[in-house]
Amino acid sequence: MSNLGISCYFPFPRVKLVDQVFFDRTDSVMIRIEPDLRFDPLCHRCHHKAFGIHSHDHHRVVRDLNLGTTTTWLDVGYRKVVCAVCDAVRVEDLSFCDTGKLEGVNNKIKLIKRRAFGFHDPDYFVLKVKQAFPGRPAPKG
Ligand SMILES: [Zn+2]
Repeated sequence: MSNLGISCYFPFPRVKLVDQVFFDRTDSVMIRIEPDLRFDPLCHRCHHKAFGIHSHDHHRVVRDLNLGTTTTWLDVGYRKVVCAVCDAVRVEDLSFCDTGKLEGVNNKIKLIKRRAFGFHDPDYFVLKVKQAFPGRPAPKG
């Protein structure tokens, strides 16, 4: 662990920085972030306090803005919680790296693949995914 203090650059609520590893060869840094256990977890969908912890030790690596010329990666630990309002198991709300939309897109892509019992033609699979997510219309003018 480096002696440099970088926690002031990451004022994220409800989490704490636990470790940072610098890789000289690739000029990158991996910062490990864990949920701050002093706070009760929140449901990412309804933002209510969760009823309990379903499971923990889940990790997701996300790219952050560079620190100078150094590529920054965040290894974000999160928990799955039991939400009484949603009546389901949900991912803990970590507002700084909301992965809800990404998970929704991943689930939709998996559903497309499952509905077709797999695709033999990867180009057609890409077309079906693009059809499901048409995006914004092109600006006029
Ligand atoms: Zn909820």
